[in-house]
Amino acid sequence: MSGEAATATVLLDEASTRIAAALGLEKREARLEARVLAAQAWQVDRAWLIAHGSDPLSDAQAAQFQALLSRRLAGEPVAYLIGTREFYGRPFQVSPDVLIPRPDTELLVELALARIPPDQAVEVLDLGTGSGCIAITLALERPHAQVTAVDRSAAALAIARRNAGILGARVDFLRSDWFNALIGRSFDLIVGNPPYIAAADPHLANGDVRFEPLTALASGVDGLDDLRSLTAAARAHLKPGGVLLLEHGYDQADAVQSQLRQRGFRNVRSWADLAGILRVSGGEWPE
Ligand code: GLN
Repeated sequence: MSGEAATATVLLDEASTRIAAALGLEKREARLEARVLAAQAWQVDRAWLIAHGSDPLSDAQAAQFQALLSRRLAGEPVAYLIGTREFYGRPFQVSPDVLIPRPDTELLVELALARIPPDQAVEVLDLGTGSGCIAITLALERPHAQVTAVDRSAAALAIARRNAGILGARVDFLRSDWFNALIGRSFDLIVGNPPYIAAADPHLANGDVRFEPLTALASGVDGLDDLRSLTAAARAHLKPGGVLLLEHGYDQADAVQSQLRQRGFRNVRSWADLAGILRVSGGEWPE
């Protein structure tokens, strides 16, 4: 950068306008993103940005910010650029090897917590754990629970293990393609946020999801391939009276419910997320 030294305020204003235009965001959201990127680029917090908004920045500082900004303008998700995303009030490290934790999934966590008594060593399984956000949250909220988490991706498991270490959660991580490495094991509660988007869904070509692992997002022609195989396989891994809870797409509750009923689950029902969308379905394996 040449000429007069830029200030944080000037750079952030210009960046917000460009982010809003390039990504079709509201100005307010774009400003927030610009601040998050600046805080990462300069390793400072929000208070610093306010207090030092009119200080001149060095060329190196300006360049560090521009580097992150260009990646964001090209569509890379903020969570990958800063390497972290908050879930259920805790920071989780993320990389393009794992799906970025979503607020929708906090519903699955709430439903699971309601089924794990605080003082019992309930055995819980998280299928396709990714960043580990579900398993780790359950383990931290219910320290007596015995939480196992599987993923078929070694890279994802490395991140999940790191998150458990940083957050101090006791989770048994296992490399497994769904139930493959769990022969003979059964659980009181099985939860999962499997891929559930239809392979040809145009949603996959837009926004953040373009940068996320496709294997964590798409699942066959109708998006139901994995949900179908999980509902079929889960019963061999549930204790009598055990519960299965699966997150799914906005229009898949009926399909998942009928799968669960066909497979012999009882008390099958669905629950709505904060947006009023039926987002999780589940049932009990008979006693
Ligand atoms: N809810 C995510 C989305 O729509 C999809 C996550 C998933 O497939 N499990 O982007």
